[in-house]
Amino acid sequence: MDFELTGEQRALRRRVERFAATLGTKAAEHDRDEVFDADGWQAMAEFGVAGGPIPTESGGAGLDPLSTVIACEALGYGCPDNGLVFVVDNHLWACVIYVLRHGTAEQKARFLPGLADGSKIGGFALTEPGTGSDVLAVTTTATREAGGYRLDGTKCYISNGPVANLFVVIARTADASAGQRSLSAFLVPADTPGLRVVRSIGKAGLRGTLMGELEFADCVVPAENLLGGEGGGYQVFTSTIEWERGFMAAPQVGRLRRILETCVAYVGERQQFGHPIGSYQAVAHRLADMQVHLELARLLLYKVGWLKQQGRVALLESAMLKLFVSESLVEGALSAVRTHGARGYVTDLPIERELRDAVGTVLYGGTSDIQRNVIARLIGVPEAG
Ligand SMILES: Cc1cc2nc3c(=O)[nH]c(=O)nc-3n(C[C@H](O)[C@H](O)[C@H](O)COP(=O)(O)OP(=O)(O)OC[C@H]3O[C@@H](n4cnc5c(N)ncnc54)[C@H](O)[C@@H]3O)c2cc1C
Repeated sequence: MDFELTGEQRALRRRVERFAATLGTKAAEHDRDEVFDADGWQAMAEFGVAGGPIPTESGGAGLDPLSTVIACEALGYGCPDNGLVFVVDNHLWACVIYVLRHGTAEQKARFLPGLADGSKIGGFALTEPGTGSDVLAVTTTATREAGGYRLDGTKCYISNGPVANLFVVIARTADASAGQRSLSAFLVPADTPGLRVVRSIGKAGLRGTLMGELEFADCVVPAENLLGGEGGGYQVFTSTIEWERGFMAAPQVGRLRRILETCVAYVGERQQFGHPIGSYQAVAHRLADMQVHLELARLLLYKVGWLKQQGRVALLESAMLKLFVSESLVEGALSAVRTHGARGYVTDLPIERELRDAVGTVLYGGTSDIQRNVIARLIGVPEAG
């Protein structure tokens, strides 16, 4: 077993970290005003971030899964605007990956070049007012009619909703008796008549990623936009979610490292009772715990990257990773607030923002409770009922 990164991987990490550090100079402003950083997105697109895992023949950078993980971790570490990085997370791991894995040749030719060069931003629409963790309870309908499918319903909490150009939408094509075959996935351009962003939804953190509520009313999409065949939506979702869970964790690992380094620097400088506060065991142990979490999170992250590199299933590992990284990030950000005292709580420093940004990570892509359910099922614990 070789834990060393190759020279190429180390160079990629350095290159992305250097680039990422040029972003996010207005992170505090974007957080305060809840705005999407169009210039930052453009810069990332030009650097190749928007198309990182997309093959070169479709206009992307053609990064393999392990290199992608390393690049995304570096982006999360170097860019202090977590909201801006979350725009990329959703674009890549909630939209692009669906086209890559389940798109037909025609769909790939139609959608990937724009997604790769950043002229199109991706989003994913599953959640509804009455449908959260229970995916099979989706009520948005897709009714077959001449020329395609008519979508009707409401989707909420959709990241990138107000700025996205293309959505992967999960809708119902059969009643509940069809079980897992009752849902279908569709590629829906944002300018399709009948699709409207009803409102932007304000949130506690990751405020540089705009969140929207979408309304579908007589929204007709051609049959060619069906992703994975009619009735294949649940399978499309469950076979792709391991990418979202696994790869969205990468920038979170980067963030945890940045938070830890900030704390280590601070406890060496800040003096109380005549000594640096880092000399007090209570303070030092908080940071030691953070380091342990960081190392374990990174090991699991690279394992997921490696499994996907081998073309293997990583459902269990990505659920464990998602659970562990997001909970570690919340705990780490809270530790950073404690460690900085009042400075960690006021808005002069970005510490309080790190905490607000961290909390969302235990909710999206399946809450921590749902990850535990997935893990329990995959290790053979019987389901209730
Ligand atoms: C920052 C952010 C970004 C998001 N982006 C998107 C997006 O782009 N697209 C999209 O479709 N959705 C998005 N969502 C929505 C997200 O996927 C849902 O919030 C999530 O699936 C949980 O659904 P819910 O909020 O309705 O909670 P609920 O499902 O109502 O759950 C409420 C509570 O009950 C618990 N619970 C529910 N069922 C079980 C169970 N079986 N076992 C144990 N506990 C359970 C949950 O863990 C939670 O604690 C986003 C959410 C956030 C916070």
